Amino acid sequence: MKFVHETRPGRVVFGAGTRHQLAEEVERLGVKRLLVVCAPGQADLAAELTAPLPNTVLHPHAVMHIPVSTAEKAIALSEGTDGCLSVGGGSAVGLAKAVAKETGLPIIAVATTYAGSEMTPVWGLTANGHKTTGRDPKVLPTTVIYDPELTVSLPPGLSVTSGMNALAHSAEALYAPDCSPITALVAAESVRAIASALPRIVENPRDLDARSDALYGAWLAGTALGSTTMSLHHKLCHLLGGTFDLPHAETHTAVLPHVLAFNLPASPAAHAALNLGPDPATRLYDLARSLGAEMSLKALGLPETGLSTVADQALAAPYANPRPVTTDALQTLLRNAFLGTAPTA
Ligand code: NAD
Repeated sequence: MKFVHETRPGRVVFGAGTRHQLAEEVERLGVKRLLVVCAPGQADLAAELTAPLPNTVLHPHAVMHIPVSTAEKAIALSEGTDGCLSVGGGSAVGLAKAVAKETGLPIIAVATTYAGSEMTPVWGLTANGHKTTGRDPKVLPTTVIYDPELTVSLPPGLSVTSGMNALAHSAEALYAPDCSPITALVAAESVRAIASALPRIVENPRDLDARSDALYGAWLAGTALGSTTMSLHHKLCHLLGGTFDLPHAETHTAVLPHVLAFNLPASPAAHAALNLGPDPATRLYDLARSLGAEMSLKALGLPETGLSTVADQALAAPYANPRPVTTDALQTLLRNAFLGTAPTA
């Protein structure tokens, strides 16, 4: 056994109703004037949550993959503030991170999806169809509030794909070159919690126990993501999102089973830790499909010509992966994901 484990700082406030502790958490950080960022759909929620706070500026324009122009507007608005609050999923957190990267403002994140970005020091920005990502401890949120009641409004379809996005973090953490024993425990527990929660959420989106389990799993998955180096799956989704503007969670859902079918034979420890039976790839494919997820990248908007673009880009840049990625294997994997067929090893 040989590993390096770094525990990241951060305060997590978890539980039904914890959104009402926001003012207390802001005060705890000594923040006097907050820039509030969210996607347009969370503008009302952000206004409601910040109503008790005396001094806020709302910027409800977060979108996926964080275009540089959007980040620049938020950075300009941050003038005179001493903290940034994100209300929403990965897009809102991503915009807060873009602000923190430039200004060093501390971030408080109220998380409303299962994307997990609030637990990572990873930022992303997109310009001219090219997404750049990096790590910077400055962008790791200082305080995260997870209130499962805020996720009840997440439509079942997006709950499933967002949950699959979280499962992808944990699966790739399990075979990451820098996975430590603690991270492996965290990732395995997140898979258990999310896989059990998703069918219950689809059956009853208002089931607070299921919502709590999924959000708990998402927190753990984000923690695993923030502690490790991601591999082929995240590389492909990053290219598909940045270059073709494909929807984030849905893309992760369609790609994950195929990457796992390819990678798990080379990583028996990850296969075992997932605890999803003899064929985790097919199990996750069947789970997502049975819960109504779209499994075809074509249906998500990828043009057929995009297959070779993504394959070429993925083969050009080196990254960690438990199994060497050959041109043939990658083309087969991408074609299966494009068509939405069941994964093949
Ligand atoms: P998102 O934040 O764009 O949210 C998806 C949609 O759901 C939006 O329309 C949003 O308004 C809506 N929504 C959010 N919460 C809701 C709720 N509770 N009820 C109803 N609607 C709700 O999508 P996402 O999947 O959470 O995040 C995707 C983005 O996050 C991508 O840009 C991705 O690259 C980034 N990301 C970054 C990291 C990282 O570590 N840096 C990790 C994961 C994701």
